[in-house]
Amino acid sequence: MFDFDGTVALVRAGWMPAMLDMMMETLMPLGPDPAALRAEAEDYVARLTGKDTLFQMLAFVDHVRALGGSPAPAEEYRDEIFRRIAGRVADRLNAVADGSKPPESILVPGVRPFLEALRASGVAVYLASGTAHEHILYESGLLRISQYFDGIYGSAPTSLTKAELLDKLLSEGIAGEEIVAFGDGRVEIEVTKAVGGTAVGIATDEETCLTVDAKKRGWLIHAGADYIAPNFLRTAELLEVVAGIR
Ligand SMILES: [Mg+2]
Repeated sequence: MFDFDGTVALVRAGWMPAMLDMMMETLMPLGPDPAALRAEAEDYVARLTGKDTLFQMLAFVDHVRALGGSPAPAEEYRDEIFRRIAGRVADRLNAVADGSKPPESILVPGVRPFLEALRASGVAVYLASGTAHEHILYESGLLRISQYFDGIYGSAPTSLTKAELLDKLLSEGIAGEEIVAFGDGRVEIEVTKAVGGTAVGIATDEETCLTVDAKKRGWLIHAGADYIAPNFLRTAELLEVVAGIR
């Protein structure tokens, strides 16, 4: 099971600072220490990464309320962060759509050869994301990676969550120990470990995607990741991880 944003694709790279900046506009007047407030927000934003964005905004609403503020409904904040990152997302996708940039410009390095090798080895491969289902379908098609997946699942309710996808696989007779997840979010790591699977944390530094981001690494290890990689360039070793559990 592959997560999409930050794992396979960089379509939404930079969303976390943008989300924290937006939250700080409301949090700043509610406490004396902006750095501490931002760190608190970053903690639940990171913890809920990989789930539908609404969960991050529900946690934010609770945070604002706990500080004595009067938050707007979580849905309004969700719509606002989507509006703020929409321009950057559209620019990246349009550059690929009009041919001025290759799909590889917004794919995590090495992911295509790795997916091709997994397909060649006969492993079933699934894509699961907390981003809206129709966006995941469009973007995976545009990036010419949809052919690698046996199933593509965006956010519920129109699709399955990551936990629901794993439940579906288990109900079809797959053992939890046979499942390997690749993801940059705590959610996919936790749900995979909960069923006895193996979790590879993709802690890519989103500037270059060549080094491990120390913060992401810490979050992913805390969530239970068995391995950490900055990208998929060490294909042979990653294939060994998959082969080792079969
Ligand atoms: Mg992700």
